[in-house]
Amino acid sequence: MKSTETQGFMMILSSPSGAGKTTLTKLLEKNFSNFTISISHTTRKPRPNETDGKDYFFVNENQFQKLIKEGFFLEFAKIFNNHYGTAKKSVLEKINKGLNVIFDIDWQGTEQVKTKIKNIKLITVFILPPDIQTLKQRLVNRDQSGKQVAEQRMKKFKEELSHWSDYDYVVVNKDLNDCYNEILEIIKGEEGNAKYLFDKSKISKLVDQLSK
Ligand code: 5GP
Repeated sequence: MKSTETQGFMMILSSPSGAGKTTLTKLLEKNFSNFTISISHTTRKPRPNETDGKDYFFVNENQFQKLIKEGFFLEFAKIFNNHYGTAKKSVLEKINKGLNVIFDIDWQGTEQVKTKIKNIKLITVFILPPDIQTLKQRLVNRDQSGKQVAEQRMKKFKEELSHWSDYDYVVVNKDLNDCYNEILEIIKGEEGNAKYLFDKSKISKLVDQLSK
């Protein structure tokens, strides 16, 4: 269903770790005053460059379980032994104020949002790295914590990858600017009548290569 004139939309950007999704969500928020990123709750420990309330709301396992029981989350999932979840109330408040909310969540969360959200416009986008070498490089650069974490993320990458066809759109992040512009085209298409088309058979071939 189309959103009303005053209601914003939801845009989920999912990708295997290391495909550049965080940079893209931050660019959208920076360039458009009516876009805002949903800040998740997590039981993961903060990384050195992360701030509580800005990157995530960092909570402990007990607090997270309590929030689940209270029905606080729109969706939640366990990833790499940590819990992640999206606060329902604050997201809905923002959408009702006319803001477009961007979500950086995984495929499990996307499935839950798709099931639960019926009267708000939802756009789902899956972002792929251009090739396996680029992905590995991005994972190594990012995780100074070493080979084991990078290997764990690689495993998660393959699991995530198998869900690409459940998304409305798939884009390849070879060049950040091109990828960003493609996302703008998707939004424009959704706001107008001409949906942005992507080459499904090309994406399917790339997924085959990345899954090896
Ligand atoms: P990271 O720990 O690297 O920040 O995130 C790990 C994964 O958790 C990423 O794939 C990210 O999209 C996902 N994620 C972050 N927040 C949420 C959330 O609230 N719900 C779900 N389902 N996934 C999340």
